[in-house]
Amino acid sequence: MKYWLDIEKEIKEKNLNVDMKLIREALLLAQESHIGQFRKSGEEYILHPVEVTRILIDMKMDTDTIIAGILHDVVEDTFITIADIEYNFGKNAAQLVDGVTKLKILPNGTKDQYENIRKMILAMSLNLSVVIIKLADRLHNMRTLKYMKPEKQISISQETLEIYAPLAHRLGIAKIKWELEDLALSYLKPKEYQELKKMIDTKKGQREKYIDAAIEILKVKIIDESKLKVTIKGRIKHFYSIYKKIYEKGKEFEHVYDLMGIRIVAENKRDCYHILGIIQENFQPVPGRFKDYISAPKSNNYQSIHTTVIGAGGTFVEIQIRTEEMDKIAENGIAAHWSYKEQTSITKKDQVYGWLRGVIETQQEGSSEEFVKGFTEELIRGTVFVFSPKGDIVELTSGSTPLDFAFYIHSDIGCKCIGAKVNGKIVPLEYKLKNGDCVEVITSKNAKGPGNDWLNMVVTSGAKNKIRKWIKEQKFEENIKIGRDLLEDEIEKIGMTIKEFEENKIVKKHLEKHNIPSLDDLCFQIAEKRSKLDVIITKVKLELEIEKEKNDRLINPIPSKVKVKEKIDRKKNDYGVIVEGIENTLIKFAKCCTPLPGDEIGGYITKITGITIHRKECQNYLNMIKLDPGRQIDVSWDNKIEESRVNKYKFAFNVFINNRNNVLADIISLISNHKILLTSINSSILSNNEAKIKIIIEIRDKNDYSILVNNILKIKDVLSIER
Ligand code: MN
Repeated sequence: MKYWLDIEKEIKEKNLNVDMKLIREALLLAQESHIGQFRKSGEEYILHPVEVTRILIDMKMDTDTIIAGILHDVVEDTFITIADIEYNFGKNAAQLVDGVTKLKILPNGTKDQYENIRKMILAMSLNLSVVIIKLADRLHNMRTLKYMKPEKQISISQETLEIYAPLAHRLGIAKIKWELEDLALSYLKPKEYQELKKMIDTKKGQREKYIDAAIEILKVKIIDESKLKVTIKGRIKHFYSIYKKIYEKGKEFEHVYDLMGIRIVAENKRDCYHILGIIQENFQPVPGRFKDYISAPKSNNYQSIHTTVIGAGGTFVEIQIRTEEMDKIAENGIAAHWSYKEQTSITKKDQVYGWLRGVIETQQEGSSEEFVKGFTEELIRGTVFVFSPKGDIVELTSGSTPLDFAFYIHSDIGCKCIGAKVNGKIVPLEYKLKNGDCVEVITSKNAKGPGNDWLNMVVTSGAKNKIRKWIKEQKFEENIKIGRDLLEDEIEKIGMTIKEFEENKIVKKHLEKHNIPSLDDLCFQIAEKRSKLDVIITKVKLELEIEKEKNDRLINPIPSKVKVKEKIDRKKNDYGVIVEGIENTLIKFAKCCTPLPGDEIGGYITKITGITIHRKECQNYLNMIKLDPGRQIDVSWDNKIEESRVNKYKFAFNVFINNRNNVLADIISLISNHKILLTSINSSILSNNEAKIKIIIEIRDKNDYSILVNNILKIKDVLSIER
C-alpha cells in the first residue's frame, strides 16, 4: 500500500507504542475514500492526510489521534460517516474526527468565522487532541499554501498568525508555533522576509564561528572536566521573532543578540544548575538576561534556564539549559505529555488545561466575536508572576491589577475587595502589578461590590466576565424583587396567594409557552417589562370566569361579567384601622376575605404596597403567615372613628339558594333597598336544584352586614349565607 511504509517507518523510529494494524486499516480506508480527489497542487488528495499524520507521529501522539489524523477529511469529502469510523476504529477516534470535521473554519471576514473559532476553542476543553490534529492540519496547509490564490494566502496566513500560532504557543508546542509564524510571515511580509533571510545568511558564517568557539569551551568545561553527560548544540532563532524585534520593536539587526544560541540538554535538574555554575565561572553574564523557568515554569509548562553571556568578539550568546524531558515539552508542549505522563493527567490536572477551562468558563456569555477576541487577547499577551501572601505563585496577564489578582483567587474575594497591598504598602486598585510583587487583597463584608468602572481597572477576561456577571446578577435580584411586588399586588386583587398563582395550571402553561423557567424569572421579566403583567393576570382571571360560566349557563339570569368598580383611594387616616407601632402606612383590604369593622383582623406586611388587612380566620392569611411569619403584624379597628364618617368596605359573601328564577332579582332589589352599593354578583350551580351566588358589595361595618343578612335570609328559597 502506498505511503504505508513511510508511516510504519516513522512510527518505528519514534518508538511509539501504538496499534499498527488499526492505523494501517485507517490508511487503507482513507486511501479508498479519497481516490480520484486531488489537491490544488495537483497531487493526490491522500498526501495531505498522510502528511498531517506524519506531523502527529513526530509529536508522538497516541493511536486514536493518529487514526483521526488519517481520517480527518473523509467525513467531509467522502461517503464515510462518523458511525462508520466508530464501528471500525472505536468511539474515541470517531469523536476526534467529528470534532475536527465540525471545526472547518470559514473564510476570513464572514461573521460565522468567529462562531467557528469559538467552537474550536470550546472543543479544546473537551479534547485537546482535536486541537492538536487541527494544528497539524493547518501546518500542512501552510506548507502547501503556495498553490492557493494570493487573496487566500493572505487571509489564511493572517488567521494562522492571529489564532493558530498563539494557540500552539499557549499549548507549548513551540515547534509548530515557529513554523506557522515563519510561513505566515513569508506570505504576509514577503519583502521583509527575503531581506531578513539575506541578512541572516551573510552574518551566519561569522556568527557561527563565535558560537562554535563558545561551544568548544563549554564542551571542555562540562564534558571533559566535570564529566557530565550532556548534548550541546547551536540553534538558530526562528524568523518571526527576529522580525518582530527588528520591525516592530525597532532594534538594529546588529543588536538582535539572540539570533543564534546554544542549547545544553542535561540528564537531570541538578546537572542543569551545576552547568549554570560552570557557565558563570567561565563567561561573563549579561546582567538582566537570566531567567530560571525550571523553578518557576511558564504557564504552558515550558521549563529551562536562560542566561546570556558575552562570548568571543564581545558577542552576546544566549544559552538555554534544560533536561531532555523539558526539551521535549519545550518543543511539543502539551503533546509531550502523551509520551511522558499518563494521558489522564493531561486532562484534569495540567496547568494549561486549567487555564483553558478557566478562560472558557468565564467567556460563555457574549457574542462569538467577543469570545474569540477576549480569548486571543489572553493568548497573545505576556504574563506577570506575582505572589500571594502565602507565597503561592500566581500567573496573570501582563498589565493586571490587584483586582485581577483578587478575581483570579475567587469571585467572592474580587467582589468584596475594597483595597490592596503590594509588598506591604497600600496601592490603588488600578496599580499595574510587576513580576515578583506580593499581593494582598483587603476585603470587607460591607463592600458595595463591582460597578461598571471596575471593568476599566482589570485586563484579564476572567475578571472582566466575573464583574459583568456580578453586575448582571445584582440587577437580576433587584428586578426579581420589583417584579414580585408588582405581581403580588395584582394577584391579591383576584383573590389568590402567590403560591396558588404559582401552582395555577394557566400560569404553568403560560410560563412553559414563553420559555420562562421559574416564577423568579417571570418576576424579573415583569420588572424589565418583557412580560406583560396584565396579560397573564387577565388570562388567569378569564379562565376562572370561563370555569364559572360553564356552571352558570343554566341558571344565570344576569351577565356573569359585572364590571368591577375601580378601587376607591382612601386617605391615609381614613382606613379605620390601627397598625401597631406604625403610622402613615399604606393599608389595603384583602380581596379574599373582605374584612369588616367588627371582624377579628390581622395584618400582613407586603413588600412595597404596605399592609394588607385580612380576617384572622382567612385561609389565605393563615397560609401566608405560615410561610413567612415575619410578615405578620397586629392590627385592630379604630373605634374612635366618628360614626359620621362612612367607610365603604368592599365585602364579599355567598348566598346559597334553591334554584328558582326570581331569587336573584329578589336579592338584588333587597340590596338596593338597603342603599348598599352592589359591586358584583355571580352565580353557579351546585347541584340539580341548588345554586351559589357570590355577591360583592360596599358596606360600612359588620352591623350593617348582619341586618342585610337577616333580611336576605327572609327571602323565599334562600337556604343559607356564608362569608
Ligand atoms: Mn485537512
